[in-house]
Amino acid sequence: MIVVFGSVNIDLVSKVERFPHPGETIAGADHVVAAGGKGANQALAARRMGAEVAFIGAVGTDSFADLALAHLHADGVHLDHVVTVDGVTGTAFITVDAVGENQIVLSPGANAHVRASALEDVVAGPGDSLIVQGEVSMTETEKALVWAKGRGLTRIFNLAPARPVSARLLSLVDILIVNEEELRQVAQRSGVHGGASDVVEKLAADLGLGVVVTLGAQGAIAHVEGQAARCPGFPVDPVDTTGAGDAFVGAFAAALDAGLRLEIAVRQGCAAGALACLKQGAQPSLPTRAAVDAFLDKQELV
Ligand code: ADP
Repeated sequence: MIVVFGSVNIDLVSKVERFPHPGETIAGADHVVAAGGKGANQALAARRMGAEVAFIGAVGTDSFADLALAHLHADGVHLDHVVTVDGVTGTAFITVDAVGENQIVLSPGANAHVRASALEDVVAGPGDSLIVQGEVSMTETEKALVWAKGRGLTRIFNLAPARPVSARLLSLVDILIVNEEELRQVAQRSGVHGGASDVVEKLAADLGLGVVVTLGAQGAIAHVEGQAARCPGFPVDPVDTTGAGDAFVGAFAAALDAGLRLEIAVRQGCAAGALACLKQGAQPSLPTRAAVDAFLDKQELV
């Protein structure tokens, strides 16, 4: 089983010709309302790849709560440990201009009240994994990692969005997953320099943990327990890359959870990430196991 401890949001996305100046009102296109949040996206991504998944998070008492959990519920993610807190569900107000630049105001709402104590009754042990990200309290995330370590779970930390993290927190992690920009920031703080491949290897050695970096269209590189793996990325015509990173994390974790080798897990993560670029939005674009298998079969024939 995979336990995902993290955020769930509603994204309100409106396209505009240009961003308004302070005090100005402009008309946007009809907005899209979509469920998101890295925790929820990664839980759904792993579930669609066939893993048993429990999501631990919080929603508010507003009308967005059910909508935020709708895909997770429909796909069979266990939601028994999601708490409802007085107030609003996390909401991201996103405007995208004509050249694809975005401006985001994130109202954390219930995500600010996610507590590791919600994990106490979760039944999990060796052979299971915990995935955490950077969108809920780092103090609570650290407690979640302590909980998982005590029970022998594999601990995966997707450090997104990038933020400073303590050495103590990193010491609780088995596998750190970052994108290129997040890797740059971690490397800078750790005084490690060089190309992505060297940095991944050096960081893995210096921090004593597995490191995976996703490189957009260039795929991903991993260095875990002395093993290296690389997937050069799959050529696709991206429509919207939102959710590609979450698709990678969920599919990668699901593959490891199923006992697959590192190299296969990276390949499945990359395939899921590439497929997630082919549809608008994060959650609707997360691929199923069948879609990933069919995509990989086709690649082998090319
Ligand atoms: P993030 O969304 O967190 O910034 P990336 O952009 O690195 O993460 O994307 C995650 C994964 O999704 C990549 O490792 C890659 O496999 C896949 N991916 C992302 N963008 C593309 C693309 N343009 N073409 C093919 N695959 C992509």
